[in-house]
Amino acid sequence: MKRTGFVDVPYRPHYWLSDARSQACLVGHDPLGKPDFEGLVRFDVEIKDGRIAAIAPLGTAPAGAIDLKGGLVWPGFVDIHTHLDKGHIWPRSPNPDGSFLGAATATASDRKARWTAADVQARMEFGLQCAWAQGTVAVRTHIDSLAPQAEISWPVFKTVRDAWADRIDVQAASIMPMDAFAEPQGEQLADIVADAGGILGAVTRLTGGVHDALPAEFLELLERFFRLAIDRGVDVDLHVDESGDSGAKALIEIARTATRLGFKGRLQCGHCCSLAVQPDDFVDATLRAIADAGIAVVSLPMCNMYLQGRNTGRTPRWRGVTLLHELKDAGIEVSIASDNCRDPFYAFGDHDMLEVMTQATRIAHLDHPFGDWSRAYTAIPASVMGLPGRGLLKAGAPADLVLLSARYMSEMLSRNQADRVVLRDGRAIDTSLPDYRVLDQHIGANP
Ligand SMILES: [Zn+2]
Repeated sequence: MKRTGFVDVPYRPHYWLSDARSQACLVGHDPLGKPDFEGLVRFDVEIKDGRIAAIAPLGTAPAGAIDLKGGLVWPGFVDIHTHLDKGHIWPRSPNPDGSFLGAATATASDRKARWTAADVQARMEFGLQCAWAQGTVAVRTHIDSLAPQAEISWPVFKTVRDAWADRIDVQAASIMPMDAFAEPQGEQLADIVADAGGILGAVTRLTGGVHDALPAEFLELLERFFRLAIDRGVDVDLHVDESGDSGAKALIEIARTATRLGFKGRLQCGHCCSLAVQPDDFVDATLRAIADAGIAVVSLPMCNMYLQGRNTGRTPRWRGVTLLHELKDAGIEVSIASDNCRDPFYAFGDHDMLEVMTQATRIAHLDHPFGDWSRAYTAIPASVMGLPGRGLLKAGAPADLVLLSARYMSEMLSRNQADRVVLRDGRAIDTSLPDYRVLDQHIGANP
């Protein structure tokens, strides 16, 4: 699908963008005046040799600047929780009933039957093409790693990461049920992850199960998992408590275990949905424990809305998301990411962080005020991924920017931003999205 930007930005080694707007919390220049009621400030941007040379007060830009007429400017987005290896299998393996168990079962069958290296690579690259065209600069993908898939998918990840290194920073974390870490494949996977420069990840349920009351062996499995990470000096990223069952209490145990074992790496927990249905005193204890352990949390609101609270024939009664506001108020780093795209865990999605922002704002009331939630798609995940210079508009950072015709959050969150301009190293890229038909040879066309 050919897309045309709302403004022409012909490349020059040195140029200015005038009359830009952005959330004040993303702009590394002070003072630019008092933010407006949506938290926005106005400024000019100097771009030189592919980098932001200066963020300057409005009116600084010389004649000949490209006039954004008050349009929003975003730093390139950072999508810290995705599943590029699962993406786009929907036409051949849809979720039969939209449930979590339906998702896990359909995905496992598809993986066992169809996930050759060529299949995984084609779908991963398709996802990255979408992300690139939408203005994303860094992606962390989870990799389904239950044997024998790890031996197939991790080499593909390394190939794709290297091929995309000058376009998108791609990181990978494993995902495998906790009980599999008690088998020899747990140690083998930890070695594969460490060798690949990856992140060790697990899902806090047992093979074939859902996220409910913790099994008796859970703490033992968790300690074994952490020791594998500690022994190899790798970071950790877990899928945690992805249900509305108040008995799903892995999060606090992860925090206690990390603290007790003195885990020193970066540690992120995704989903944490059940926190929203647990009693207040237990929530308070959990928030304290994860703050003490330095755990970052990533919420996946679109996937949560799709899977959580689903009972056929019954209207959903909750939005499925974790306690975003309370986590942030407790001083915990909170990111928001896209998660699955067109697979049994989420039937929709286009690797577009602007869509994630639009949906998350509505689902979790990240407005009134907008506050600094815009950092949850940019600066915070960049920090958790260890990517200095990403996620902020500041002098010296790469001129990797997303320019919108929308001038206000209200305009941006109300209308599709298909005419966005994406700058990479100061150059406007082709923002056309890949045609789904290129995957037909792997997926098969819809019947
Ligand atoms: Zn996930």
